[in-house]
Order: sequence, then structure tokens, then C-alpha cells
Amino acid sequence: MEQRRNLAIGVDLGATSLYVSVVDVSSGERLGEAKAKSRAELGADAVVGRVVKAIKQALLAAGVTKQDVLGVGVGVPGPVLASQGLVLSLTNMGPTWNQYPLAARLSERLGLRVIVDNDVNVGAVGEHRFGAGRGTRDMIAMFVGTGLGGGLILNGALHTGFRGSAGEVGHMVLQADGALCGCGERGHAEAYASRSGIERAINEAIDAGESSIIPQLMKEQGRKNLTSAVLDRAYQQGDAVTVHAIDEAQRYLGLLIASCVNVLDPEAVVVGGGVVERMGEGYLGRVREVAYQHFLNKNESESIRIVAAELGDASGSVGAAVLAAQRLSQM
Ligand SMILES: [Zn+2]
Repeated sequence: MEQRRNLAIGVDLGATSLYVSVVDVSSGERLGEAKAKSRAELGADAVVGRVVKAIKQALLAAGVTKQDVLGVGVGVPGPVLASQGLVLSLTNMGPTWNQYPLAARLSERLGLRVIVDNDVNVGAVGEHRFGAGRGTRDMIAMFVGTGLGGGLILNGALHTGFRGSAGEVGHMVLQADGALCGCGERGHAEAYASRSGIERAINEAIDAGESSIIPQLMKEQGRKNLTSAVLDRAYQQGDAVTVHAIDEAQRYLGLLIASCVNVLDPEAVVVGGGVVERMGEGYLGRVREVAYQHFLNKNESESIRIVAAELGDASGSVGAAVLAAQRLSQM
């Protein structure tokens, strides 16, 4: 029987939670969704079981069966060998994910074709097809959260690179021998412009004896880590240490965007992730100002849009579904 609609399933598999959407890939409409905890501590096979269960729930919510969908796309928080559906490693989810054949395992249990890619790549595809970057030919996506991930859309398609690792803008060196990055190297953009970068700068200032309301706010909320909520409150209250750390993060993000624009000259840079969502559109004002100052080609600088992502936490699942439809129709 001919499929009535172009439906695909997208899965955004994170270290703590997973998000499944049944997506009409011609309109972007999400027909059914399901969310669950990933429970990474149970190991890769058990997590796959939880993904299967969530997919069944999402199909039920959408009122369709698996015979109605083209296949499944999964975005994971780490490097993959997309051509083989292989997860190389997921540092935040434990050693059972090393060299894990995710596409094959999920496909066996679902009876559907499955593709996998990096979570940031699928997020970039989602924003390009149905979010803030729709209609562009060349676009850069950056997601600013605990880390700083990036994805490249070139000539309308996801650019994955020779070894599948293109787009890692967060690990561009902005300061030789600078602050320690989450990857173990020094001076990368992520070490300055991500939430962990902001946290590092705030902790350094407090350790150096500067006064801040952050320790008090964390105690009030019973938090050991600096959450976006605490950060936002300290910022709103004008805490000098926080304001300075965030200003630095915005400046570095602006420098990073300018460096990327100078290489690729895209039509848009789409910025998403927890930090930008929480701080809102206002966060990007300062970022744009710095970025535009550092464009080499200043002719009509502002025609290159530097804009907030539009799909929120659905960018990954929507993008994974779109990528699945694209790749599976080429097979
Ligand atoms: Zn790094």
C-alpha cells in the first residue's frame, strides 16, 4: 500500500533523557511524541529497549503503525560512524557504548531501517529544514549548553567531512594555551563560551576572592552545580562576577561566529541550546555586535543572520527524522 504521508521517526537520545517524535517530513508537523529517562547506567542494550518502548508510544500517540513510516533516525551525544550505523563512544553514557552497532540493534528489535548521527548534526538538520535556518543554502548551527556543539549545512545538505567529524566549532582554538576544555585540550571556544566555561570563570573569580551572590543562590536551591536557573537569577540581579563571566562568554561566542563566517560565508548562523533558550533573545545582542565587528568582509555584514534556534528541544528529534528520510530514500 502506498504511504499516505512522508512519515519518519526521530529520536534524540541524550545522556539523561530521550525524546521521540513521529514527524511528517514534508511539513515538519510532529504527529506524536514520547519522552522518557534514558537510564544510561543500565547499559546500551537496556537503553535500546527503552528507545523501542518510547517509539511504540509515539506511534500510538500519532495514530499510525510502523508500516506507515520510512524509518528511524537517532541522534546521539558523541561521535558515530554514520555509514555503518555505529556509535564510536558516548563518554557521558558509559563504556557499553564503545563501538556499539546502534542502527543494527534498533533495527532488529523494530523491524524498521535505522540511521544514526551525532545529536548536534541532527539538530542542525532540524533547524535548517523547519527552524530558524529554513530556506538557506549554507548555514552554521551552534548549540550552547554544557558543551558547545556545531553542525554545518553546505549546499543544502549536512556536511559531515572526510572522517565524519566536521562542524566541531566548539573545539576551535581561540586562546593558545588557554583554559582547559572538556575535551582535554586548551583554549577551545567551548572552554569560554559554554555553560561550563561560564561556570569556570565564575569559580575562578570567587576563588580569587571576588564577592558574588552565586554561592548563596546555590545553597538556597540545594544545588552543587551551577544550573542555568541560578545563573539566570544571578545575572538578573546584576551580580558583577556573573555579568562579567557572561559578557566574556558572549564575546568569545561572537569571535567564534566571526571566525566561522570568515571561512564559510553562510547565509545564517543559528544559535540554540540551553544557555541561549534560558537567557532569551537578549543574549544574542552582544554576540552579534562582536561577531559583526570581526567579519573580514564588512559588505552588508548584517545580511548574514545570527539568530536564535526556533525548534527548542525538538530540533534533534525533528532533524533525526528528516535525516532518516533523506538517507533512507537514497539507499
Ligand atoms: Zn575542546
